[in-house]
This record gives sequence, C-alpha cells and structure tokens, in this order.
Amino acid sequence: MSSDNEYRLSFATRSVHAGYDCKANEGSLNPPIYMTSTFAFDNVEQGAGRFAGEQQGHFYSRISNPTQEILEARLADLEEGEAALATASGMGAITATLWTLVGPGDQILVDETLYGCTFSFLEHGLKKFGVDICYADFTDHAEVKAKLTDKTKVVYFESPVNPNMRVIDIEALSVLVKDFSTSITVMVDNTYCTPALQRPLTLGADIVVHSATKYLGGHGDLIAGAVVGDADIIQQIRLFGLKDMTGAVIAPMTVFLILRGIKTLQLRMERHCHNAQRIAEMLEQHPAVDQVFFPGLKNDPWHQVACKQMDGFGGMIALELKGGREAGVRMLNRLKLAKLAVSLGDAETLIQHPASMTHSVYTPAERAEHGITEGLVRISVGLEAAEDIIADLDQALAG
Ligand SMILES: *Cc1c(COP(=O)(O)O)cnc(C)c1O
Repeated sequence: MSSDNEYRLSFATRSVHAGYDCKANEGSLNPPIYMTSTFAFDNVEQGAGRFAGEQQGHFYSRISNPTQEILEARLADLEEGEAALATASGMGAITATLWTLVGPGDQILVDETLYGCTFSFLEHGLKKFGVDICYADFTDHAEVKAKLTDKTKVVYFESPVNPNMRVIDIEALSVLVKDFSTSITVMVDNTYCTPALQRPLTLGADIVVHSATKYLGGHGDLIAGAVVGDADIIQQIRLFGLKDMTGAVIAPMTVFLILRGIKTLQLRMERHCHNAQRIAEMLEQHPAVDQVFFPGLKNDPWHQVACKQMDGFGGMIALELKGGREAGVRMLNRLKLAKLAVSLGDAETLIQHPASMTHSVYTPAERAEHGITEGLVRISVGLEAAEDIIADLDQALAG
C-alpha cells in the first residue's frame, strides 16, 4: 500500500485512473498500445545497464512493455500490493510463480479442490520434477496445521473454491501458516472475487494470482493472467518464471482490453452479485434442486466466513439437482438464453458441467477424492436482467 495516503481514492476511482497519467502521453485519455518487441538503446552502456537490472527501462517485450506496465501498476494498486506482473493467461501466472518458488524436494500444500488445470499442473506436472504435492481440506485448520512440514514452501488455495464454492478463511489460514514458519509463501487465486470483492494481501497472504480472462477482462474476449505481491518476488517471477520458464507474455493489445474492462469492474461486480443472489434464492426454493452452493445464502455453511472477508458474495453459483448427473445434463441441454460454455465472469450467463468440462483433467477417482461431484452444475451469472436468467433456468429445470 502507498504510505503517503492520507487521502486515499476509492476503489472505483482507482479502477479508472491508477497507474496512468494522460499528461505524460500527449493528453491521450486512453493509454497508447506499444506494439513493439524491442527497445532501442542510446549506447551499449545503457543496454548493458538495463540487462543487468542496474538501469530502469525496457529492453525486450518478453520481460516488460510500457503498456503492460500500466496494467501492472493498476492491478498492484487495486490488490494493495507493491507490484504486479501481467501474463498471457491465468495458467501462465500460476506456473510462472510456482516454477520460481519451488524446486525438487520442496512441498506445496494445497486445498483439496482446485481449478482443473492448476490441479493438473501440480499433480501431473510439477510432481514429475520432484516437488511433493500435499492436499488438505483448508476449511479444517487442524488438518492444515498437521500437514505443514519443514519442506513446505508454498500454501496455495482459491476462495471461493472453483467449482464447489467452499470459502476458505484467508486471514486465519495466513496466521496459522506464518505461526508455523514465516518463510512459507501463502498464495491465493483471487479469480472468483477480483479485488473489487476481496483483497487477500490485506488479510495476510503473500501472493495473489488471477485469471484476468474472467472478471478483470470481463467481456469474454481475451485470455490473460496476473500475479501481485512484493516487488522483489514479482521481479524474480518476471526474470525467471516468465522470462525463462514459461515465456507466458501478455500482448499489448490484450493489456489495453483489460485496462478497459477494469474501468467498469466495480459496477459489473455489483450487478453480478445482485443477480447471483436472486438466482441462488430462486434455485434454493426450486423443487428440482437438491442443493445450492452460494455463500450469500444465509444457511450456506460458509456464509459467516464470506461476510468477514468478502465485500459481496460474487457471481458464481454451483448446484446439484435431485436427479444427479442425468438431470444436470438434461437441464444444460435445454438452456435457451444462458450459454453452455466454460469460463466465467462475462456479461453473458455461462453454465457448464465441471466433471465433463473444466475439471475433466481430474480422473473420476481424483474427482471423488477432491470434492467434485459428478452432478455438479456451475453457473457464472451474467449481466442480463435477473428475471430473464431466472425464466431461462426455470424452463430448463421444468424439462
Ligand atoms: C480460469 C481459471 C484459471 C486459469 O486461467 P486461464 O486464464 O484460463 O489460464 C485459474 N484459476 C481459476 C480459479 C480459474 O477460474
């Protein structure tokens, strides 16, 4: 956080302005898109200085670019971190960070349920390189405590968890981990909330990662990611995880679109939250629905934790129908307005079936073990009028 902030602008204002000064750019209201791969040096000494990190300035767009720098400043500001790194995808952010933080013999302790490709990267990827992947139910603090070891380097989780909507107490978890060892990095995937609803760094986490493909971009027209944390670790991730290990570089045009999306982030999140609350309440009453997983419902097991750490309950809902997987498939095939599609955080309501789509990289046995039921349906509630989404769900459920 900036230290000279007697007068701190509100989140909505910073979403529009942070990190960009139009006076420094010919008065251009929107940031210029620097379509360049390389940067010319004044002389050899300057080039050498930039490569050595002794001089400020860009040298090659696989490391940094002036357009990208604006997005990074804005994201760092909104997440209340020192620095940020924008990447080509959410997976680019997650993998660049973990390649930087761990090596053979180290342990990563993760929540039992993760976004499918994150799980696959750890279980089917990093494990092959001698990294120990250990799972715990992060809503059970005693279990987490029991699984921390002197080999633990990173503690990683999402909240709310994709796709089953458990909510993990970020502050309690961070305190517990730091009590055990201050050298363990607490890393949170904040994709579901965005900083408009939840700021994990202010709750004790060390690193936040995002799929900016989702709410940050907000319009379903790009793939991107980001990492936010202390300046020194972000610099390490940039110069190793990004530059050498993944090359997951974001394109300047994509940066521009995310900056545009973020200007309306708070407005959009308010509407997503409002719509999701109404839809979750409708589904809870529906005779075809067995269970609704949404932290905004009063009797959701995670409601209290969500109230404590989130500024709104978000736009994601999971549900289980009474007829299980078969009933879910029938409902999905009957949708008219909502799109049957993976991804989330778009203007359009998107509905999908995790077991056969986003979480199909888990084997059936792994899904059973990791809390992803076969009948689970996931809804990313869009920005349409709530009554129209409700009518569509109603007719699909009536089938
Ligand atoms: C989509 C998603 C990712 C991966 O992001 P990409 O931009 O698709 O690479 C990671 N975590 C969560 C929670 C996601 O929803």
